[in-house]
Amino acid sequence: MKLVLFGPPGAGKGTQARRIQEEYGVVQLSTGDMLRAAVKSGSAIGQEADRVMKAGQLMPDSMMIEMIAERILQPDCAKGFILDGFPRTVKQAEALDEMLERLGKSLDCVIEMQVDDVELIERISGRFSCAGCGAGYHDHFKPTRDIDICDECGSGEFTRRLDDTAESVRARLKVFRDQTAPVLPYYEAKKILYRIDGMADIDEVTRRIKNILLATANLS
Ligand code: ADP
Ligand code: ZN
Repeated sequence: MKLVLFGPPGAGKGTQARRIQEEYGVVQLSTGDMLRAAVKSGSAIGQEADRVMKAGQLMPDSMMIEMIAERILQPDCAKGFILDGFPRTVKQAEALDEMLERLGKSLDCVIEMQVDDVELIERISGRFSCAGCGAGYHDHFKPTRDIDICDECGSGEFTRRLDDTAESVRARLKVFRDQTAPVLPYYEAKKILYRIDGMADIDEVTRRIKNILLATANLS
């Protein structure tokens, strides 16, 4: 299974990718998380990522592609992967295709999660995640079952992304509309684009994604 979960920040990509990862044993590749981990590790890519992210710019495409290629060749990606947050430009989409082709692979499908802006801002302003296992939560839409205790791992520590403010979200949505949305016609032309209503509740969105995977991906 090789798919891209596509949508603006807050669409629910991370939430759904975790579920698909658990159900099918594929690996969620969030390029944002990969970059943040690289920054923490202090590696060469990490130092460059730190500089670029602080300046609010995008990482060079070649570096992103190299990072993803290295990752999908690792044994835990044998059953497949879910790209979440990549590609963000048409150039990246083209570079991704070239890289996959070089590795003898191709995407099964690209699933676009559609959510309107007002809801996106509300979702992002309330989201937080477990510092222990990364499980995602939301102040109103998906609180922890017990106050301040992670449902999945029992940790009592949580984090909020510094850039998850209403103001930053508006800026990120503009970048999405201007630079990232043009990727859609690219995949539409390849006939691998599927659209789903991301406004539905979390379980319903999962059901719709699974249906698309049943129709397009080799699930063995
Ligand atoms: P993305 O990875 O696309 O930026 P997330 O998966 O982090 O988005 O979801 C953003 C926030 O919205 C999270 O707090 C999550 O709990 C919440 N959320 C995700 N999907 C839904 C949904 N279908 N309905 C309501 N809230 C949702
Ligand atoms: Zn946890």
